[in-house]
Amino acid sequence: MLYGALEAGGTKMICAVGDEKGNIIDEVTIPTTVPNETIPEIIRYFKGKDIEALGIACFGPLDLDKSSPTYGNILKTPKLAWTGLEIYSVLKDELEVPVNIDTDVAGSLLGEATWGSAKGISDALYITIGTGIGGGILANGEILHGMLHPELGHMILSRHESDSFEGICPFHKNCFEGLASGPSIEARWGKPAEELSDNTEVWELESFYIAQALTNIILTICPKKIILGGGVMKQEQLFPLIRKKVLSNLNDYISTKELEDIDNYIVLADLGGKQGIMGALKLAYEC
Ligand code: ADP
Ligand code: ZN
Repeated sequence: MLYGALEAGGTKMICAVGDEKGNIIDEVTIPTTVPNETIPEIIRYFKGKDIEALGIACFGPLDLDKSSPTYGNILKTPKLAWTGLEIYSVLKDELEVPVNIDTDVAGSLLGEATWGSAKGISDALYITIGTGIGGGILANGEILHGMLHPELGHMILSRHESDSFEGICPFHKNCFEGLASGPSIEARWGKPAEELSDNTEVWELESFYIAQALTNIILTICPKKIILGGGVMKQEQLFPLIRKKVLSNLNDYISTKELEDIDNYIVLADLGGKQGIMGALKLAYEC
């Protein structure tokens, strides 16, 4: 049987068809412009593909309250043209198949938990550090939603004593995204993050913020695996720095077999950028 997967991002829409084993059989990328242009292209792609169901891993915030009349709509977003878009119901009505929607990061989490580095693990955390910072939480084998869905990229962090950069989040300034996202690195150091590989000061500071956020999350939800993805995490020198700082922050307050094996506890996403679209496929299969 074939399933449809849509990874809906702020710059591009990845549409794919695949099977229940996570094999992607066909894939296209459509630029995200305005809904009137982009949505018909998505519909055109999936129509006639004979899919059983569609999974959508979408940028947020999203209304994921199944009892809400606006379930599956995109909520207030800086991508103004997309605010209020009924992405779930429009695609469901047009394609006439069951649809399952969740956040983009929940999709990546699901991909990694099904086929990647959190396979078989019931409690896991996925964080992407790219243009923005977002995270998904798997708790007792289920994606955690709560009253909305986690927005851990906006966790307030303490500034490093040597850091005078204000932070770029228009809502909070010194939140995780405001201090540690790709654009915040670029704004602080005057160059895109990918051009700063050799500047050790950059990665010391970046790992300070990531480790601070991870420590807070470890102490709150106790994940058994932490998976990091997104453009900034291509700087793999961050991993040993983050692991060391997390252990130092915890200061032996807790000890678990996962923390003892920290190299296998805080890890890079395993599916090489395919975790989002594969997770969307899993969302379809779970319909
Ligand atoms: P998006 O978040 O838009 O889906 P990415 O995850 O690729 O896309 O994130 C883009 C951000 O990641 C940009 O701020 C960019 O500077 C940064 N980035 C991309 N590649 C690298 C790299 N190799 N090293 C460090 N930062 C990178
Ligand atoms: Zn913020």
